[in-house]
Amino acid sequence: MIRLTEIKLPLDHNEDAIGQAIVDKLKIKPEQLHSYNVFKRGYDARKKTAILLIYTLDIEVDNEEALLNTFSKDQHVKPAPDTSYKFVAQAPANITERPVVIGFGPCGLFAGLVLAQMGFNPIILERGKEVRERTKDTFGFWRKRTLNTESNVQFGEGGAGTFSDGKLYSQVKDPKHYGRKVITEFVEAGAPDEILYVSKPHIGTFKLVTMIEKMRARIIELGGEIRFSTRVDDIHLDDGQVTGLTLSNGEKLDTRHVVLAVGHSARDTFKMIHDKGIYVEAKPFSVGFRIEHKQSMIDECRFGDNAGNPILGSADYKLVHHCDNGRTVYSFCMCPGGTVVAATSEEGRVVTNGMSQYSRSERNANSAIVVGINPEKDFPGHPLAGIDLQRKLEEQAYALGGSNYDAPAQLIGDFLKGKPSGNIGGVEPSYTPGIKLTDLGKVLPQFAIDAIREAIPAFNKQIRGFSTNDGLLTGVETRTSSPISIKRDKSFQSINTKGLYPAGEGAGYAGGILSAGIDGIKAAEAVALSMLENA
Ligand code: FAD
Repeated sequence: MIRLTEIKLPLDHNEDAIGQAIVDKLKIKPEQLHSYNVFKRGYDARKKTAILLIYTLDIEVDNEEALLNTFSKDQHVKPAPDTSYKFVAQAPANITERPVVIGFGPCGLFAGLVLAQMGFNPIILERGKEVRERTKDTFGFWRKRTLNTESNVQFGEGGAGTFSDGKLYSQVKDPKHYGRKVITEFVEAGAPDEILYVSKPHIGTFKLVTMIEKMRARIIELGGEIRFSTRVDDIHLDDGQVTGLTLSNGEKLDTRHVVLAVGHSARDTFKMIHDKGIYVEAKPFSVGFRIEHKQSMIDECRFGDNAGNPILGSADYKLVHHCDNGRTVYSFCMCPGGTVVAATSEEGRVVTNGMSQYSRSERNANSAIVVGINPEKDFPGHPLAGIDLQRKLEEQAYALGGSNYDAPAQLIGDFLKGKPSGNIGGVEPSYTPGIKLTDLGKVLPQFAIDAIREAIPAFNKQIRGFSTNDGLLTGVETRTSSPISIKRDKSFQSINTKGLYPAGEGAGYAGGILSAGIDGIKAAEAVALSMLENA
């Protein structure tokens, strides 16, 4: 099979155009082309009047070797790589030890699935509830302000990305094509086939819920066990080796192999780990606000007259600005046609995030506009100091919002002028349970406010209308990534605790659903190889 990259065709090309482009590119006769498969489809919308679709195609043709030789100097004509997943191990039938995975977010899900597929019968422990019950709790908070601190946007089956836009792309290097394994498993669990080939795939929240249920059933069918409402409260150590766990129901569980995939919001678990002497470091993260605009404005700006074209869908954006005060402001977790969501897992705190349905058809576009902060400058002195800072900002937002889980918000124009907002403008807020218009200028450190005030007008140069007066800022966005890193070595084990495999976003090794899934697979492989070695 040959892979052709960078095949460019107009947005409105007809069905035959791809075959013709292949024939033209390789200078072959049409009958020499047996078949083609679209491996990736992206677009180039830099010129709004002439938007191009860009294809990566896997093709079968006569005389493949000869053709590859003819095009040996053309980097866009190469043998198609084998992207299929190969298991690194298979558990012997008589294996008795069972590995444990803590957390059933994307990282724990893929660690558990791959361990189960290799025959290691993992036990997966998840503090939150199964996804349907969790959905009720989460919607209960959004509608009635009743927060369940163990079952919410952050905690429960599916992890933090369950109520999300379900974006499935990442910038991690992936030479072994683990990302393909993640996407393929999602498709088998019911995700739309197109996530296999569009360049920026997304699933949307409702589809994710059903897929997670199917993947849970598959793990159980393969011999895995999943326990919900089961928090890990203690890790037992003997001479630097994990020997077991204490669960929230008081039960003790013996195990020498534990994947720790608890996500970035497991603050109590981070404290427990640090108290046990497991090596933890503070790491940089970002803080800021959610920004909302009309999606139609973003679409028109990015796609011009092609706005609304179903192939392009709702437009996204990615923005970065380096500020005079040395800080960097960037857009993050952009959700086209989505809603801003209440994402706290702790009482008396307000946290924003964003989600969309697969259709991305809500009226507003939202994204986080955040400022990078780091331990040396902004929260020095203690490995867990980033958590203290997050909590302080979230408490300030709670108080500013009226101490009832409404989020403080301000019109962009007023924020730039430094005056409190009194009335909403043309952009209707999507955050529930509600917002309180106020002055956001004091809710973040001054350097962050200054940086965001400088960045928004700069972003307006790329997206005209971005600094529109009546766009909306809602705060605070603090759970952008983990405030700590739980360091591991080449064997994927904690640098001072054998048998503990810190993985995923909470440990500082992933940022997003896809990269967390990839890290889960890698952790599963490391556990499997170690268990075989010690069997
Ligand atoms: P998590 O998903 O956080 O999972 C950790 C799990 O561990 C949780 O279920 C938690 O309940 C459990 N847990 C914690 N402590 C314990 C304990 N002591 N015992 C037992 N269980 C425990 N990323 C994208 O790529 N695309 C998106 O569109 C996107 N949108 C998002 C929208 C929202 C609203 C949020 C909150 C996040 C979004 N993200 C998105 C980020 C993404 O969800 C995370 O990067 C990803 O879920 C991290 O996966 P993880 O498995 O490492 O951790």
